[in-house]
Amino acid sequence: MASPYPVNLKAPDITPYREGTLGVEYVMSFDSGKSGPHVMLTALVHGNELCGAITLDFLLRNDVRPNRGKLTLGFMNVAAYQNFDPADPDASRYVDEDFNRVWEAEVLESDRDSVELRRARQLRPIIDQVDYLLDIHSMQHPTVPLLLCGPSEKGRQLARTISFPPHVVSDTGHAAGQRLRDYGEFVDESSAKNALLIECGQHWEPSSEAVAKEMALRFLAHYDVVDRQFVSDHLPAEAPAPQKLIQVSGPVTIETNSFKFTEPFQGMEVIERAGTVIGYDGDKEIRTPYDKCVLVMPSRRLRKGESAVRFGRFVD
Ligand SMILES: [Zn+2]
Repeated sequence: MASPYPVNLKAPDITPYREGTLGVEYVMSFDSGKSGPHVMLTALVHGNELCGAITLDFLLRNDVRPNRGKLTLGFMNVAAYQNFDPADPDASRYVDEDFNRVWEAEVLESDRDSVELRRARQLRPIIDQVDYLLDIHSMQHPTVPLLLCGPSEKGRQLARTISFPPHVVSDTGHAAGQRLRDYGEFVDESSAKNALLIECGQHWEPSSEAVAKEMALRFLAHYDVVDRQFVSDHLPAEAPAPQKLIQVSGPVTIETNSFKFTEPFQGMEVIERAGTVIGYDGDKEIRTPYDKCVLVMPSRRLRKGESAVRFGRFVD
């Protein structure tokens, strides 16, 4: 299905970063030589999500370096990104499989093979060294930015502390496989490591670029790893609106090859009554499980095994 949304962002040239600094292509890592956390920002986990690549390119062009600890900037699924074509912008999400569904030891250590698994296996030793990760994404539909903080209290706490963007989603991910955000110690409550995933807005809208840059700067500022003046020079003057948390109860995983929504949902609709039919998976009615159910990120990729939508509710 062709995307109904225009491409109003320009895919940056990332070839200057090809060589990388650690022997892994498209991973730029800088060590301040001083003690401090290892902070990593990742972009292009999905090859057609431009705002993260633009943000990393912006930081690199501005020679942003850590003043303590380490800062690593990683362009992840570059093979998919290299296929990005503004005339068919949905086609380059991945090459063989979704790069954001392979992040568990069992899968990474299996004998399965794909372009994405090969890249994930290259990157894994670097990810294993990271204390705090921000993974920058964008969405199919133009909805408000969402900060996905994962299922753990430490993720929710980090989202609250950073206080941007206004909508936070706590969820456990997808049946199809584990996300980078949920890999290893990032979800282990006994570890200090932490990760956030930001969905900045629609894939190719200029507002997504602004959100990605703001989130990246606020994340770096939170860990106090880069020049404070650079951060304040590039942050909007206005303070962000107060945060709201949406607790996701789970994804609706598609079981047939004929899933349809009853309406062209965009995301963030609040369905007043429990039991409202919002779609059909083959003949099976998909009903909202509780009153005031929020529809989080309804998908246009309605394929068996993938998530059609996530159900959640606002919590105080
Ligand atoms: Zn994504």
